[in-house]
Amino acid sequence: MKTDSSTTYEWIKQLQTCGYRVTAARQTIVELLVSSTHALSPIEIYDLGRKEYPALGLVTVYRTLERLDELGLIQRVHMPDGCHRYLRATQGHQHLLLCTCCGQVEMFEGDDLSKLTQRVEDTTGYHIQDHWLQLFGLCPRCTSQSRQ
Ligand SMILES: [Zn+2]
Ligand SMILES: [Zn+2]
Repeated sequence: MKTDSSTTYEWIKQLQTCGYRVTAARQTIVELLVSSTHALSPIEIYDLGRKEYPALGLVTVYRTLERLDELGLIQRVHMPDGCHRYLRATQGHQHLLLCTCCGQVEMFEGDDLSKLTQRVEDTTGYHIQDHWLQLFGLCPRCTSQSRQ
């Protein structure tokens, strides 16, 4: 994931289309989420956002996250510690790999779940239509730090 001004523009346009006034504070939040390679907690967004826009309020952070979530532009990830972090929604059929230590995110495509889904269909009688896969682990940086 990289800084992507056309994505920022798209998100802002979508917010405006839904009748949401896009202030400088909200634009700051959008830019953070579009460019971040890490899943961010609301507090982290608040802290990072205030470096760009010192008057940013925590309530604005929560409300903007709610709106972006409703529009399907971001997704919420559940961390093993029970906290929530947010990141850009995956596009198409992408899967998520998340570092449980620092929140770094990688997307990957491709999986071979056909054997598993077949077995689940056989045992449950369901017709499986879709799946949502999220892998947790330690990123290379956190792995090498935990070995020291
Ligand atoms: Zn990490
Ligand atoms: Zn898949």
